[in-house]
This record gives sequence, C-alpha cells and structure tokens, in this order.
Amino acid sequence: MIKEDLWQAVLAQIQFNISSANFTTWFKNTGILSKKNGKIIIAVPNNFSKEWLENKYHKLILKILHNLDKNIKEIEYLVKPVDSKIKKTPIPMVNSEQLEFQELDIDKDTNLNPRYTFNNFVVGPFNELSHAAATAISKDPGRIYNPLFIYGGVGLGKTHLLQAIGNQVIKNFTKKRVKYIPSARFTSEVVSSIRNNTIETLKAKYRTIDVFIIDDIQLIAGKDKTQEEFFHIFNFLYEKDKQIIISSDRQPKAIPAIEERLRSRFEGGMIADISLPDIETRIAILKTKAQEKKIDFSDEVYSYITSHIQTNIRELEGAFNRLVAYQKLNKGPLDLEITKSLLKNLIIGSVKITNPKKIIQAVIEFYDLKEKDILTSSRKQEIVKPRQIAMYLLREELKSSYPFIGKKLGGKDHTTAIHAYEKITREKQENENLNEEIKLIRQRIYC
Ligand code: ADP
Ligand code: MG
Repeated sequence: MIKEDLWQAVLAQIQFNISSANFTTWFKNTGILSKKNGKIIIAVPNNFSKEWLENKYHKLILKILHNLDKNIKEIEYLVKPVDSKIKKTPIPMVNSEQLEFQELDIDKDTNLNPRYTFNNFVVGPFNELSHAAATAISKDPGRIYNPLFIYGGVGLGKTHLLQAIGNQVIKNFTKKRVKYIPSARFTSEVVSSIRNNTIETLKAKYRTIDVFIIDDIQLIAGKDKTQEEFFHIFNFLYEKDKQIIISSDRQPKAIPAIEERLRSRFEGGMIADISLPDIETRIAILKTKAQEKKIDFSDEVYSYITSHIQTNIRELEGAFNRLVAYQKLNKGPLDLEITKSLLKNLIIGSVKITNPKKIIQAVIEFYDLKEKDILTSSRKQEIVKPRQIAMYLLREELKSSYPFIGKKLGGKDHTTAIHAYEKITREKQENENLNEEIKLIRQRIYC
C-alpha cells in the first residue's frame, strides 16, 4: 500500500472511533512522511497537534497501522507545515440533521436541546477533564463519578456539555429517564408547588429520574426552601445509584450562602473545571461551526477573529455568526478588511474597558454581598476578603491610585489599600483557589 492510501485507511478507521469535532481538530493536515524499516513518520501541522497525537491517540493509531501492515512497529510524529506533497485530510461532512436546531426542538419531557452533542463539542486542554468525565458517564450513568460537578465562567460550554451527556444517555439507553433543568427553573417549581400545596407531586416526579442534570446551581444560594428540596431529591437519587450532574460558575467551596451539607455532597463526587480555550482551540471551534454551516473562511479571517475575541466561546460564536450572515448574503468570500469592519464594534466592546463601579459590582455579586457591606469597616472575614479583592482589582485593572481606592471603598486610608493590594498579590501566588476566584470575577467585569 502506498503511504497516502495507508494514511487514508487509518483516518477512515479513526473517524469511527472519535467524534467528528475531534477528528477535524486533530487529524486535519496530517499525513505520512515516510515509511521505512517498520517505522512510520507522521507529519503534523504544529506542536499542539503533535502533543495531542502522542499523548491521546498514539495507541489507537499504532494499533490501526499495525493491523493494516504487520511490519509497522514504531511511529514518530514530526512537525511539518503541510505542503502539497502530503495529501491533505478530507474533512468529513456533517450530516444535514445536525445543522440548525430551533427552540422548538427542545424536548418537553427531558428539556434537552438536540443541538448540544458530543459530536459538535471541541475538546482541548481547557475542557479535557470535564469532557472525559462527561463521556465516561454517558456510557455508564450512576456508577463512575457521582455526582459530577462541572464549573467554569460564562459562555465556556457548561450547558453544552451537560446537555450532551443527556442526549447521549438517551441514545445509549432508551429506557433511562433523563431530566435537564436550569436551577432557576427548579427554584420556581419549588416555589409554586409550595404555594399550591403540591410539593409531594414535585418530589414524586423527580424521584423517577435516572439521570438528573441541574445547570447553574450557584443560583440556589440563599434560597433555603429550594436547597432543602434539592437536598432530599439528591439523597434519594444518590442512594439509588442514579446519576446526578451539576454545573456552576465556580467551585462548591466558593459558592456563598449554600448549606454545608449540600456543599459536602457536591464535593463527594468528581469536580472538573472548564477554563478559557487557547487560540488554537478557538480556531478549531470556529472551524467546526463553519463546517456545520457548510461555509468556510480564509485562515487570516479565522486568525483575526480568534485573536481579537478572547472573552468566551459564546461571544466568539456571536461574532462568527455575523461573518456567516454577511458571507451568505453577499455570496462572496470575506476579506480581512470587511471582517475588520464587521467586527469593529464587537471588538471595541471587548477591549478591556471598565470603571470602579463595575469592578465593585462584580465583586459583591460574586460573593453575594450588598454594596453597603463592603463599604463598612467590618472586620468579618467574609467581608474583608472581598473588599481586599476589590481594592486589588481597582489597582490592577484601572491603575487607580491608593488614596482613590481607599476612598472608593468607604473612605479607607491609602495604607489600607496598599496593604490589601500587596496581600492579595502575595496570596494569589500560593493559593490556586484565590487565583481562580479572581479570574472568574475578572470575566464578570468584562462581560
Ligand atoms: P455556559 O453554559 O458555560 O455559559 P454554553 O454551554 O451555553 O456556555 O456555551 C456557549 C456557546 O458556545 C454555545 O453555543 C455552545 O454550543 C458553544 N460552545 C461552548 N463550548 C464549546 C466547545 N467546546 N465546542 C463547540 N462549541 C462550544
Ligand atoms: Mg449555561
């Protein structure tokens, strides 16, 4: 078999083993460079792909190659920008049913939107752990990680991943009952069933579920009655080995005003995070979306949009849809100049512009405090820490002077502001949780 055909045969089999999003991300522009004495050298377009193939797909590739040609015993991956001599990987076409889904498609019983699948979910270092846990669960719900707790900032794919688990479980196990619910909706169900005296009906309904998925759990903080009902449902399902999947914008220990018994339940299973995707993955995400929409752009367009929109995937998608609409309307390819002008106001919007009010607001919302709390001179730890973080962020984000910072936070002395800034700077280096909290607050400031 000549090396091009050999590689095509390998790719054809790999495609059956992994999702099409991953396939496009990791195998596009790969090829066999040489085949000598049982050793194959595979060309990959960049270091990033090299690492992934070596770490994640090596065994699979070797197994397939060895099955095709028993002499092959060894593989090496070499970074080599694609040239015309290496046959390019054809990108598999997405079938038409995956294309556009409307709100109408949301299933009334499960609340799942079929648009969210593993197939159109791109995996990279930023969400790898969450994705691995999610796929494992969808193959064997209730037995591996229970509960699964996924956290990360806005627009990074939590809802997508949660719903993908639900959709996959329904596919794998037709008899299993799946229910997805945003926690705000759960709260309103609890409130109205208390009002109508139907709390027993509500409980009975949730007790029949096999896979219970609740989104944005941080929103039940401070809602005692909802927490209590949730706690009972959680325990009932958990004891019966039913799968529970939870998402939140932060870790359990960073959710304020949540009962200790609930927090410890959340911490009893698997906790996985989703962070910001790096630029390569952002490009891969857009390419997947382009493929879904049967459209394509030049590399400079992809690289412009992904290097200028760095906040989150939702915003990236919004900007991208604008380009898609334009290109479809004009039936011509977009050049860089048009791209720049189409995205101008979005990019200006995402350039870091903020003010003291926004920063303080983001901090108090994150810690579920009132503005007056943070402006007092209270020494309570749950107030001192947010106040110091607000001071730190005023300095970092706006380069405000210390006297100004002191004044903004209820007329404190400038030495208090200096102390706060230095303390947070120091603690951030040692305390990963603090680092992460500040990252999440920053996202709020700029969203
Ligand atoms: P969150 O719930 O964390 O706020 P969403 O799940 O709503 O974020 O994701 C925002 C948008 O970005 C959705 O349209 C989703 O399909 C898309 N998205 C997020 N992560 C990915 C990914 N890894 N691959 C492809 N699309 C993604
Ligand atoms: Mg969400």
